[in-house]
Amino acid sequence: MSDTPDIKEGLYWTPLGGNDSSDIRANCHIFESVSKENGRNVRDFLIVDLGADELPASSVLNAFSSVVPDLSDFVKINDKKTPLHKASALFLTHSHTDHMGGIAQYLAAGVKLPEIYASEFTLAMLKKELVFKNIPLSALPKLHPVKAGEKIKIGAFTVEPVQAPHSVPGCLGIKVSDKNASIYHSGDIKADTSSFLGEPLDKEHLKKIGNENVDLMLFDAVSADKAGFARSEKDICSAYAKLFEKHNGKQVVSLIKSSHMERFATVLKAAEKAKRNVIIQGGSEMLVNLEGLKEAGISLQSVAPGVKILNHTSPEARALPPEQTVILSSGIEGNEEAPFFKALRKEKNYIVPQENAVIIAPLGKKDAEAFKEKLADYKECAGFSFIGKNECPEIDGSGHSQKEDFMLIANMVRPNTVVPIHCRTQKANKFNNMYSYKCNTLPFQVKNGVTLRVSNGNVTFSHRRNAQSLGGIKTDQGHTLRFVPVPEKHVRATSKLENVLDEYKSSQQVGYAFQKEKSTVMRKAVEDMLKSR
Ligand SMILES: [Zn+2]
Repeated sequence: MSDTPDIKEGLYWTPLGGNDSSDIRANCHIFESVSKENGRNVRDFLIVDLGADELPASSVLNAFSSVVPDLSDFVKINDKKTPLHKASALFLTHSHTDHMGGIAQYLAAGVKLPEIYASEFTLAMLKKELVFKNIPLSALPKLHPVKAGEKIKIGAFTVEPVQAPHSVPGCLGIKVSDKNASIYHSGDIKADTSSFLGEPLDKEHLKKIGNENVDLMLFDAVSADKAGFARSEKDICSAYAKLFEKHNGKQVVSLIKSSHMERFATVLKAAEKAKRNVIIQGGSEMLVNLEGLKEAGISLQSVAPGVKILNHTSPEARALPPEQTVILSSGIEGNEEAPFFKALRKEKNYIVPQENAVIIAPLGKKDAEAFKEKLADYKECAGFSFIGKNECPEIDGSGHSQKEDFMLIANMVRPNTVVPIHCRTQKANKFNNMYSYKCNTLPFQVKNGVTLRVSNGNVTFSHRRNAQSLGGIKTDQGHTLRFVPVPEKHVRATSKLENVLDEYKSSQQVGYAFQKEKSTVMRKAVEDMLKSR
């Protein structure tokens, strides 16, 4: 990433987003290969993931629709400067917004991106997202579907995708090698061999890449500090099936996150065990995800052949005896525009839950309380039973590794050094301490903008650059976006009204040096807020 002409040979890695003290959602990694040919440096770049932190509409700084990693070293942004480098490719690990949401933002801003490599499903979801956001597919660069186990030559790199069971199908890790070294990036992963929809952990493949040598492993540290294994989909399925059977004679409404597609399949399978049919009453995001599955040739029906899967608008769904159904719905985040709440308000075409329905929503104590408080506003809910994580911990399970998942994978990959990714500083420090007996760990978090060099089996600090994120600002001219720098720690902190006011005041009083655009955005946000008070 640096322009230093005397840069040494090696395989370099720089996180540009995802490793920070405040925000971990705009994931992005840069790999750089440097080799000498005829006394000259030959440099090549590979980008892995381009996530976005999409800000909630309620954010007071909603002038930013989202925050994305700054790719200005590789692409031309806002017609301002010619990029220093050309990246050979953009590889996507999976279809979650925090790993690929930045693509839509960049394309909407008219930026040309490098050719994209990803699984068939991820590419299908990428296209769906663009259609959903009214961005023409012609804005996309060339797309390359890839499969786990292939070895793909991209410029100076050999790239090998590796199956990564997570919470969506088509999730991949990636081994990146050049003539200097090899780095394995785990992707978002848990060591689950029982997934119904996605691909299970491929132990043989992990052992193979380990045998072929991995100098550095970048590992999903979202939950790696928790004890035990991340709960497997098979166990979660049994827990759901037991609940469905226990509440025999009552209708069940199962609320899940729209992005957690693996859980669709798990709940379907559980419904099959309990001999219930499934009615999908989802919002646009859930429906887009389901269409994406279809387009990538993944059949939900084949997961649970004995279950009728019906849309809530179909007459057949309405004709089913309610107590023999599970309504799979979105709204677990408590967003009252979600179908679950629309149904409670008896909006047209929604199936209203029975008055003694059982609501299953894997929420922790605090979130469950907030959710139940919302339900209290609807008198229809007085007779509902609510089951959250507190009532049944076994329905909870994330798509991220815990301690035993990490140990299992580390034992197969046997990296020389491991670095936590996708986490805040405190968690990274904990990870580095916890696992220092297992592999080499670094005594600091590799924050966004810090570059490590891997060469001759050694991992060393190379240099640091300013890795400021960019905020996309919507303009009036169609889909165009304008990018402005977002100061570190700013996004989360300023999503609260009081913080914006405080920061604004201090900027006025002590002449705090805001970027000019930033200051304008903030002033407007503050003015709008004061007006609406
Ligand atoms: Zn993910």
